[in-house]
Amino acid sequence: MIRAIRGMKDILPPETSRWQWVEARARETFELYGYREIRLPLLERTELFARSIGADTDIVAKEMYTFADRRGDSLTLRPEATAQVVRACLENGLMRGAGVRKLYLMGPMFRYERPQKGRYRQFHQINCEALGSDAPELDAEVILLLLDLLGRVGLKNLRLLINSLGCPQCTVDFKAQLQLFLKAQEGWCDDCLRRLNTNPLRVLDCKSQHCKALLAAAPVMEDSLCEDCAAHYRRVLSLLDGAGQPYEKNPHLVRGLDYYTRTAFEVTAVGLGAQDSVAGGGRYNGLARDLGGADLPGLGFAIGEDRLMEVLPQEAGPDETSLSFLAALGDAARERAFFLLREIRAQGLSADMDFEGRSLKAQMSMADRLGAAFVVILGDQELAEGTALLRRMATGEQEAIPLNDLVPALTVHLGHKEGN
Ligand SMILES: [Zn+2]
Ligand SMILES: [Zn+2]
Repeated sequence: MIRAIRGMKDILPPETSRWQWVEARARETFELYGYREIRLPLLERTELFARSIGADTDIVAKEMYTFADRRGDSLTLRPEATAQVVRACLENGLMRGAGVRKLYLMGPMFRYERPQKGRYRQFHQINCEALGSDAPELDAEVILLLLDLLGRVGLKNLRLLINSLGCPQCTVDFKAQLQLFLKAQEGWCDDCLRRLNTNPLRVLDCKSQHCKALLAAAPVMEDSLCEDCAAHYRRVLSLLDGAGQPYEKNPHLVRGLDYYTRTAFEVTAVGLGAQDSVAGGGRYNGLARDLGGADLPGLGFAIGEDRLMEVLPQEAGPDETSLSFLAALGDAARERAFFLLREIRAQGLSADMDFEGRSLKAQMSMADRLGAAFVVILGDQELAEGTALLRRMATGEQEAIPLNDLVPALTVHLGHKEGN
C-alpha cells in the first residue's frame, strides 16, 4: 500500500473542524483590524527565497524543496510567505495610492526538516503582513492583533518576547562588536564557526545549548541602536505598556531569517508543560529592496498553525454538530427519509442517512460516529401512523412526532446554531 511522505501529515475529521474554527476566528480578527486576504501560489522561483531569506540561513542552505521544472527553471515550494507577499505587492502594484496595505494569508509551507513532534515538512501558517509604513504604532498594532487573535482561540499564559534588531547603519557597529566577542571565545559549534565570519548575527540564533550558554555574556543589540532605531523601539514598548500588554525584552531574539530590521517578536504558550513558540514576526524594511523593488517598509508575523492546534485548550473549538440523522427501516421508510433529507437541508440544517439498509443498531452507531444531535427513527409502523420517533442523542429522550411537524421541530431545536 502506498503511504504518505515522511514528515507530511493527513489532517482528518473531526480535527478539521477545529482547524476551520481557528481559521474562522483568525479571519474575524483580521477583519476587525482592516486586513484583507491574499492567496498566492505554493511555487515560486528559487531566487525569491535565496535573495530574501538569506543564503546562509538553514532554510535556504538545507531545508528548501527545490527542483528544476520541465524547462529547467529552478522552482521552490514556499518555505515561508513574507517574501512572496512582498513580491506580489510589488508585481501587482498593490501599493499604488494605498498608504498601508494590510494583508493576511493562510496555507501550507514546506521545509525539509527532521520530522519531530509538532514539526512537519508540510506545515501550516496564518500570516499577517502590513506594508507601507515604518510607524511604531503599526508595530504595536500588529503585535496586539496577534495576541488578540491567540486570545480569541482560547490560548492563555502567553509570553511576548521582543527585541529590536536595528537598521543596517546600527548593525554595522554591533556586528563588529559581536565578532570580537565571538572570536575571543572557544567552543562554538561548526555552524557558528562558519557564521562567525559570514553572518555573526546568525550565531545569536544557534539552537545548540553549548553556544547558548556561551552567548549569555555577548554584547546586546539594544546598546548599539542608532538614535532613530532606539526611539522607534522605545515608542513600540511604550504603546504596549499603554495597552496593558506585558512583554519580556529578549536581546538574543533575532528570528531565523536575514531580512528582519528593528522590531522582532515571538509569542510562546505554555502547553503540556513545554514552552512552545506559536508565533513570531518582525519588521523587514529592507526586504522589498533586496527583491529589486523600491523601499517598502513593512512588518508581519506567522502563526504556526500545527503547533497552535497542539496547545489549543480542549474546550476550544466549534459547538457540537447540529446534524440530524434519519434512521429508516424498510424500503418505503427509506424512500420517505430520502425526501425528508431534502426538506431538512432546504432549511439550512445538516442531515444525513444510511443508504445500505443496515439494522437499526448499525444506523444508531453510524449516527453516533457522525456526532448527530438528533436521530429520526422511521419504520413501517411509524410511516403508517404518519409519525416518526425523534431522539435527542445527548439525553436519550425520545418522542413520537407527526411527520408533518418534523422539519419545523428540528428547525426550532437546531436553527439557532446557525452561524457557528
Ligand atoms: Zn538604526
Ligand atoms: Zn552554534
